[in-house]
Amino acid sequence: MKEIINKYKNKIYIFNTLKNKKELFIPINNNLIKMYVCGPSIYKKIHLGNCRTFIFFDIIYRYLLHLKFDIRYIRNLTDYNFKLNYNVDKNYYIYSYDMKKKILKFYKILQLLNLLKPNFEPRVTNYIYEQINNIKKIIKLKYGYNLNKSIYFNIYKYNKNFREYGKILNNIDISYNRNKNNYYKKKNIYDFSIWKNYNYNDLIRWNTEWGKGIPGWHIGCTTMSNKFLGEYFDIHGGGIDLKFPHHECEIIQSNIINNNNNNLAKYWIHTNILTINNKKMSKSLNNYILPYDIIKGRYRITDNININPLIIRLYLIQTHYRNNINFSYNNLRKTINIYYNLLNIFNKIKRIKTQNITSSYINILEIYENCYNSINDDFNIPLLIYNLNKINNIIDECINNVLQINKSDLYKLNKILKYFIIDILGLKKEKNKKSINIKKIINNLLKIRNEMRIKKDYIYSDKIRDIISDYIIINDN
Ligand SMILES: [Zn+2]
Repeated sequence: MKEIINKYKNKIYIFNTLKNKKELFIPINNNLIKMYVCGPSIYKKIHLGNCRTFIFFDIIYRYLLHLKFDIRYIRNLTDYNFKLNYNVDKNYYIYSYDMKKKILKFYKILQLLNLLKPNFEPRVTNYIYEQINNIKKIIKLKYGYNLNKSIYFNIYKYNKNFREYGKILNNIDISYNRNKNNYYKKKNIYDFSIWKNYNYNDLIRWNTEWGKGIPGWHIGCTTMSNKFLGEYFDIHGGGIDLKFPHHECEIIQSNIINNNNNNLAKYWIHTNILTINNKKMSKSLNNYILPYDIIKGRYRITDNININPLIIRLYLIQTHYRNNINFSYNNLRKTINIYYNLLNIFNKIKRIKTQNITSSYINILEIYENCYNSINDDFNIPLLIYNLNKINNIIDECINNVLQINKSDLYKLNKILKYFIIDILGLKKEKNKKSINIKKIINNLLKIRNEMRIKKDYIYSDKIRDIISDYIIINDN
């Protein structure tokens, strides 16, 4: 096992958005990998497009764990927005408690989709003062200026010294012309706020020397990634829609705060979007699908019965992460078959009778090679699933005695399936559910109800009657 891991852990290729090409992955600190992923805006509903990103980075995390790297994985929680209707001065407790409930809901969805928890999930509002300190640094270095009590990052100055903003991840030329007519009267149209002044309608705000307000969104991620992973780390990830301006802003802030030119992370990875009817799934377009609604059968995909959340997981990973998924119920329905075919391998493999032969007809090495090479090639999960299905065919041939396999190779075949289907793709073997004996449950409920009626506890006895009246007719007279 150790040999296999060592063979493949140095051969991971990642499409690095920073360089706009595929590169061999070489961690900054030998076996330690630090990864930061932009997390959800917790006050909004988490839709399927968001889940796609989080599931994909969960697979990277699982794979790196499988390869026995030491990993520090941080995914933040954005838990404020100035439009939220809370007065934090007076009711911080209520605000914080409500956000906590939303966070638990988010965890529940990710748990159903079988995501591992990152090492730490910082809430942005817990690090306001660290953000204010970073803003002070940017002002002190004269890259931040005060305009009507908001603080803006001076892109004109940054580009005069570095000439990079716009080109770092997005490769676009932005105009350096000072646009005097922009709405906020900023020095340059691309200047972005690192601190937003408080308006009378804003209920969420903090006090600073330059007035009340909230930190800009970009400074939150720079601050938290710097705080927990240092000024330069291995992987920074997120959805492709965050590439510009969010990630580009994170980079230039970090370069100024830390006085370096590291661009915050060595490898930048971006997942493509999920569209529905070829339009991006988003809250603003109101065309989003909530994972819960599919699971609870609120959409007509499985005749309104509950769908296993892991089928949704598989659906979202069977397209390469750099390609767009155009959501369709038809394809989701097809995934049900793919899912059960994959999971059924574990039942089928038990039916193989091993042969007492020194060498099998099966090339185990080639099977290992195919699986590891596909995931090592920029996390090509569709190719990995294709290769796992090829194993499925081999197993069929072993069952039918077309191919012969010995004990040791069967053991290795079992291992590789467990590694990739369970540990890395994060699917789960189905447990045999014991059939529920409804008749027995109803009889027990009837007994309890009779005892309650004797005690004249009619509130609960009536409640039980309401529940079981769907199954039997109760005649108390
Ligand atoms: Zn971010």
